[in-house]
Amino acid sequence: MNSTLVTFPGGRTRGRSTIVEAVPVGERHGLVVSETPFHPLDHTWPDQPADRGTIGGLPVADCVTGARSPEGEILLGAGIPVRRGDEGWGWLVVHVTDTPLPVGAEVDLEVDAAYRAALSAGHTACHLAALALNAALAGHWRKETRPDSLGRPDFDQAAITSSRITPHGSVDVYRLGKSLRKKGFTADGLDPEKVALEVNDRLAAWVAADAPVRVEVPGPELTARRTWHCSLPEGEATIPCGGTHVSRTGDLAGVRVTLTLDDATLTMHTECGG
Ligand SMILES: [Zn+2]
Repeated sequence: MNSTLVTFPGGRTRGRSTIVEAVPVGERHGLVVSETPFHPLDHTWPDQPADRGTIGGLPVADCVTGARSPEGEILLGAGIPVRRGDEGWGWLVVHVTDTPLPVGAEVDLEVDAAYRAALSAGHTACHLAALALNAALAGHWRKETRPDSLGRPDFDQAAITSSRITPHGSVDVYRLGKSLRKKGFTADGLDPEKVALEVNDRLAAWVAADAPVRVEVPGPELTARRTWHCSLPEGEATIPCGGTHVSRTGDLAGVRVTLTLDDATLTMHTECGG
């Protein structure tokens, strides 16, 4: 099997499948099934944390990305030397347990649905906040730069250094250094509180619009190139995304950001209800 088939992009939290492989993970056991609802932490862009839940009734202590090299060796998480989806490698969801289960066994897979829902809300809020931040900072660009899907200069993609999704929130870190200045962005006069007010006004309008959100899934494999879509009043927003989401912006029951500017680092904390 070259890749684990995944059902989390469609919002699934339960499944039944066969254990096709077991790999050691330190003292623990890494179980691979043919199809899973579990979202693993991505090794290339570790934004959304791993799902919690059970496999065959056993607690899943961790859920990581595995990659099978062309020589057949399975590497895990940070030990994977190639980027997500590299051709020639197999891509696996590895469910880590303290107790082994036999290859060939058919097992129930159950994701902690409440924790997943909180992460999905945080992830949708994170994407909306990024788009609203792009809009609020549009006047800081002196050169033309790549636009986001709503046609505004894509500050988020140009400056982001890390993004961490949390239950009902996210923390995004942006670097306002020399390379961003060369691309044409100026931080002159950037008042984080004023920008946050503008971002929050826009977010309130987007939540009030109760816009539909979906993930476009071109194939069932773990590394298929999936795209987040949100039909906002001002247009169809799209962002490449490997995570999970709520189905409408109205599900979020409010999204708010706070921004802090420290040296050349802009940090956006996003929180939402729902
Ligand atoms: Zn995403």
